[in-house]
Amino acid sequence: METLILKPGREKSLLRRHPWIFSGAIKSVTGQLEPGETVKVVTSNGDYIGQCCFNPESSISGRMWTFDNEVINREFFLSKMRIAIILRNNLSLLNSLNTACRIIHAESDGLPGLIVDQYGEYLVVQYLTAGIEKWKTDIISGLIELTGISNIYERSDVDVRKLEGLSERKGLLNGEEPLEKIEILEGGNRFLVDIKNGQKTGFYLDQRENRIKLAEFAKDKSVLNCFCYTGGFTVYALREGAKSVLSIDSSDDAIEIAKENIRINNLDSTRAEWITGDVFKELRLLRDRGVKFDVIVLDPPKFASTSAQVNSAARGYKDINLLAFKLLNPGGTLFTFSCSGGVSQELFQKIVADAALDAGINASIIGYLSQGPDHPIALNFPEGEYLKGLICKT
Ligand code: SAH
Repeated sequence: METLILKPGREKSLLRRHPWIFSGAIKSVTGQLEPGETVKVVTSNGDYIGQCCFNPESSISGRMWTFDNEVINREFFLSKMRIAIILRNNLSLLNSLNTACRIIHAESDGLPGLIVDQYGEYLVVQYLTAGIEKWKTDIISGLIELTGISNIYERSDVDVRKLEGLSERKGLLNGEEPLEKIEILEGGNRFLVDIKNGQKTGFYLDQRENRIKLAEFAKDKSVLNCFCYTGGFTVYALREGAKSVLSIDSSDDAIEIAKENIRINNLDSTRAEWITGDVFKELRLLRDRGVKFDVIVLDPPKFASTSAQVNSAARGYKDINLLAFKLLNPGGTLFTFSCSGGVSQELFQKIVADAALDAGINASIIGYLSQGPDHPIALNFPEGEYLKGLICKT
C-alpha cells in the first residue's frame, strides 16, 4: 500500500478523528495512485494515523476509512454498513407507520461518500466520492445481504461529484426498475416518491420529526407552507385538522405529487391551496394583499454550499424570514429552517433575530430543531449537522 505523508503538525484534526485531509496538509504521497485508492496515512515523523481513500483531484484529498489497524476490504464495508443499519433498527425507525428512512449517512456513519435511503422495497444510493466508487460492487452485494432488499437504484446525479472529477450518473443497479412513483408511509401518512427523478433521492427524509412537531401546532389554524416540495408538512397539517394550508413551490412536478398525496390520504382538498411560483416573490404579493397566517413553514433549499456563499445566503434567509414575520397573525408560529452547511445554528438564529427586529415583531424561540436520528451527527464530524430550525412564537 502506498503512503500519504502529512506536513509537520497537520495531524491535529486527525488525532481528534476528524475524517478529512485537505490537500494543503499533505507533504507527499508515494507511488502513482488512481483517484480513490486506499493509502496509509502517517505523520511527518512516520507515525501511523490510519488509512484513507486518496483523490488528488479534490481539495478534500483524503477521507479516512479508519484510524485503527485493519484491512480495508469488503468485510470492512459490510461491518460499517451493519453498524449503521443496527442503529436504525435499535431506534425502530422503520415500523408499521414508517417504511422509509436513511440507512447510511456518509461520514456520520463512518462511510465517507456513501448515502443510502430505504423507501419500502427499494434502496436508493448515492456515491459522492472517487473513494467509495471503487467499492460499488461490494456495497451493492453487502446491502442486499444486510437488508434482504434487492431493488437498488442509483441517484449519483449530484454536482458535488464534479469536485471529485466524477460525472453524474443514475439508473438501476440491481433488481426491478421502480414504478414512476412508489408509495411509502411516514408517520402513518401515505406519500408518493419519485425515486428516479425526484429531488435528492426522492423525499426529504430528514424532516420527519419536524413534520410531527408542526402537526402539534396546526389544528384549526391557517398554515402557509413555503418550499413545500411534495407536501410533507402540508399533509401533516391537514391530517391534524388545519383550517387551511397554502403551499408554495417553484416545481410543478413537486406540486403535482403533493396534490396526489392529499388525495391518497383522503384529506380535505378544499382546505388546500397551491401556488407554483417563487417564494421570494409570492411572500411579497401576500404581504401586499394583507393576508395573514397562524402558522408559517419556511424550508428553503440550500442557499450556501460553501462558506464563501454565506453572506448571500444570509441575505436570502433574512429576506424570507422578515416577510414571514410580517405575514404572521399575533400569537402566530414560525417554523424556519436552514439546510446550508456553511450557516451555523448560531448564525441562523442571529439572522432570524435580525429579521424579527426589522419586521418590528417581538418573537421568542420555543424550540430548536435538527435533522432526524436517521441522519446522525458524529461528534468527530460536526459538518454532519446541516439542518437547523427554530420554532418562533410571536
Ligand atoms: N419542505 C419540503 C422540502 C423542501 S426542499 C418537504 O418537507 O419535503 C426545497 C424546495 O424548494 C424544493 O421543492 C424546491 O423545488 C423549492 N424551491 C427552490 N427554490 C424555490 C423558490 N425560489 N421558490 C419556491 N420554491 C423553491
